[in-house]
Amino acid sequence: MALITDSNEAVRILKSGGLVALPTETVYGLGANALDEQAVAKVFKAKNRPSFDPLIVHVASVDQARLIAEVSDEAAELFERFSPGPLTLILPKKQIVPDLTTSGHTTVAVRIPNHPITLEVIRNSGLSIAAPSANPFGYTSPTTAAHVIEQLGDRIDAVLDGGPCEVGIESTILELTATPKILRLGGLTLESIQESIGNVNIESSSSNPKAPGMLSAHYNPGVPLRLFESLDELLAQYNSVNKSSIGLLIMGDGPSGINIYNLSTSENDLEAASRLFTGLHQLKTKGFSEIWAHYLPEKGLGRAINDRLKRAAH
Ligand code: AMP
Ligand code: MG
Repeated sequence: MALITDSNEAVRILKSGGLVALPTETVYGLGANALDEQAVAKVFKAKNRPSFDPLIVHVASVDQARLIAEVSDEAAELFERFSPGPLTLILPKKQIVPDLTTSGHTTVAVRIPNHPITLEVIRNSGLSIAAPSANPFGYTSPTTAAHVIEQLGDRIDAVLDGGPCEVGIESTILELTATPKILRLGGLTLESIQESIGNVNIESSSSNPKAPGMLSAHYNPGVPLRLFESLDELLAQYNSVNKSSIGLLIMGDGPSGINIYNLSTSENDLEAASRLFTGLHQLKTKGFSEIWAHYLPEKGLGRAINDRLKRAAH
């Protein structure tokens, strides 16, 4: 495994069918040529990902999206409005996309990521790039190159270091069939989507979901996670128990200390999202036997953060 900063090196590896972890604004993705079935098979193997869990294909423009998917006027408008950015659209696929990439679906998930180096890699390679989060299946997503190396270092060819991810949680996935439906809430808020296309339904997570990204147990932080309704409730409990073995993941005006990771003291949901996976990861690495966290207000990015906390605690 090589840690690289040169996008040309990433292009070379991807074109020869290899795996390169790529920085995006959401989380690091494990990149491979989406149209090369053998390269895609390596992604499933490296992540230990079940083959029924389809991949998101990353492109650099709407024109490039048209090479792999049927892009309706509505889809093109949404891309124009929110891309590059944390929006993934589920669209009818073109035949050129291998079944393995879409897990046999007649649709393909398409996104234009907002990261200059990765856009450069996509443009210079001319490839459509499948890039699921660069972590073993079921675990927290990496938001730094170091986090990728720790989790997948011995299973991939390279990590392209593009610094920490700005958004920090995965993309919002929108299915644009008859009635638009959100399959996963993420870095683009429900409110923003509703402003643009009106009311949309949200698919809730379950043990047998339509979108495997909605499995009720996911984002395993590697340590038991206990969730409270609010910071006040968490602190009330915390003050009555043995504290040293518990790591706290909190947001807002609370205590500080070696075992406490504050997502945002000013309760800014953008900041909280960008620090969520890093916080879980740090508390785990520090060796606490348990992590306690609390739900955030159910609005804006708070919804997507709550979704991940809930599934991480499952
Ligand atoms: P990630 O693992 O974060 O890259 O997210 C990929 C997720 O996108 C999958 O787990 C699915 O939930 C969703 N997805 C990808 N392709 C499709 C598709 N064709 N239909 C429905 N959901 C999809
Ligand atoms: Mg993932």
